[in-house]
Order: sequence, then C-alpha cells, then structure tokens
Amino acid sequence: MITRKKDTAQVFATGSVRVRASSKADAGKLLKDTENSIRRALGCTGCGVCIGKCPRNAIRIENKIAYIGDKCTHCGKCIEVCPVVKFVRD
Ligand code: SF4
Ligand code: SF4
Repeated sequence: MITRKKDTAQVFATGSVRVRASSKADAGKLLKDTENSIRRALGCTGCGVCIGKCPRNAIRIENKIAYIGDKCTHCGKCIEVCPVVKFVRD
C-alpha cells in the first residue's frame, strides 16, 4: 500500500491496483507514482544514484538492490532520479 495524506493506492498480488483519492487528478498522480515505485522495485540495479538524493539518508544498497528504511518521509526525490523509472519502459 502507498499512502499520501488521506489518499491510498493498494497493489494486489493479482496485479490489480485500487486507488482512493480526493480528486481525479490526485488519483492519477498517485497511480503514476505507484507505477514508478513498482518499476523501481522490480528493476533496481543497485546503481546507487538515489542514495545521494535522499535528504534523510534512508536508502541502503544490499546485494545490488536498494532498500528504503524507516527514516523515509516519502518525498519522492529518489524516484525522480532513478534511471529505471526515467528510462526503462516495456
Ligand atoms: S537509483 Fe533506482 S536503480 Fe539505482 S539503486 Fe536507486 S532504486 Fe535502484
Ligand atoms: S522518498 Fe525521499 S526520504 Fe524516502 S528514500 Fe526517497 S529520497 Fe529518501
């Protein structure tokens, strides 16, 4: 589940996604952010680019995969620079 204020996106094992948001625009943005988070989680190469962008020092790399720790405030700066999100498309 991804949350932003009162908006939520739930991703199910079946592949379906349910978004609840206060407006259509907020729902669209949350859905896009959810897609990007999934892309990053599945495609992470452990490049480490995101580490330098995190203001909370919440990211660590283990076995070539980025892990987000409890200090994360969901600011989104790490996703903005992730090459998997920026450049990799199906
Ligand atoms: S920038 Fe993206 S691909 Fe690189 S370590 Fe971070 S999450 Fe993984
Ligand atoms: S969302 Fe922000 S605080 Fe969380 S890991 Fe990414 S850059 Fe760090």
